[in-house]
Amino acid sequence: MVGGMGLADLTADAVNTAIDEYDQLGGETFLAKYGFGPARDYFVIRNGKAYDSKAIAGAAHGYLPGRAPLRADAFSGGRATVVPRLRLLGFHVPPHRSPAWIRDEVILACDLVAQNDWHYMDSEDPRVIELSGLLQRLPFHPVELRSDTFRNPNSVARKTADIATHHPDYTGAATKGGAIDKEVLAEFLDDPAGMHEIAETLRHAIATDVVGQLFTPVDDEDDEVKEGRLLQRQHFVRERDKKLRAQKIGDFLKAHPRVHCEVCAFDFEATYGQRGHQYAEVHHVVPLHASGETKTKLADLIVLCANCHRMIHRYSPWLTPEQLRGLLRAQA
Ligand SMILES: [Zn+2]
Ligand SMILES: [Zn+2]
Repeated sequence: MVGGMGLADLTADAVNTAIDEYDQLGGETFLAKYGFGPARDYFVIRNGKAYDSKAIAGAAHGYLPGRAPLRADAFSGGRATVVPRLRLLGFHVPPHRSPAWIRDEVILACDLVAQNDWHYMDSEDPRVIELSGLLQRLPFHPVELRSDTFRNPNSVARKTADIATHHPDYTGAATKGGAIDKEVLAEFLDDPAGMHEIAETLRHAIATDVVGQLFTPVDDEDDEVKEGRLLQRQHFVRERDKKLRAQKIGDFLKAHPRVHCEVCAFDFEATYGQRGHQYAEVHHVVPLHASGETKTKLADLIVLCANCHRMIHRYSPWLTPEQLRGLLRAQA
């Protein structure tokens, strides 16, 4: 076994020449010539056509000056060896499996099943096809980690079965599914209207994110909130709107001589001087899925110092300002 060592010298030219040869000979003859079986897991994609990645790498080795082709049993293929090498050379080798479903995705799928009276759906269903399109637009799974079947209608249909067959009224055998499926299902059963509202807001947020601002990660994503990552991100994007913050602070100054945190009374200017003049953060008291897409009312915002703001968002569920005041009092 050469392991990955013989592959380290591979060049893009050699790989392309091997792919050309594959095209000329046809797959069967090519594999027989170099002594490979058909690939099961990884394919290198060129011009939309898939080639057995290990066989291509073995054959390409023979196109390096002074080298012979590597036979199947002479090196290990797959994720640790051939795939990273081919990717490094710029070839598209999609992963065998797609990343696991995250909460946002499961909320949307679960909502579909709930709307369908807790029956699972097939891949031809227009609602499944629509959700498949929506999931491809969610910004959380990097393109290079997506398999070629990433969230396609088939995989969405399978997810609806994972959810529906775990419903307490379902009498047949449950499909495998993940822990997050059961968690979200339980939340839907517990609070159908609230979870549906979250799903609707999420759907709307994906569909209307015209500027792609939600694709920019924010650093507050320590913890997964009930509403999922996208709405969490949207919450922070809104709070950081400079214009909104200026309006709120202006409004606050009508009733107060100086800007200060409404929870702990911290005054940036008193501590930092002119640099902290009229500075504070603003926080939305109403969660996004409850407020919907309506224009933010200044009354829904409160003025906070950075520390208090961070503590509110540190864990899910987020604290109300009154709860945070309670923590401060308890410590005092
Ligand atoms: Zn504070
Ligand atoms: Zn906030």
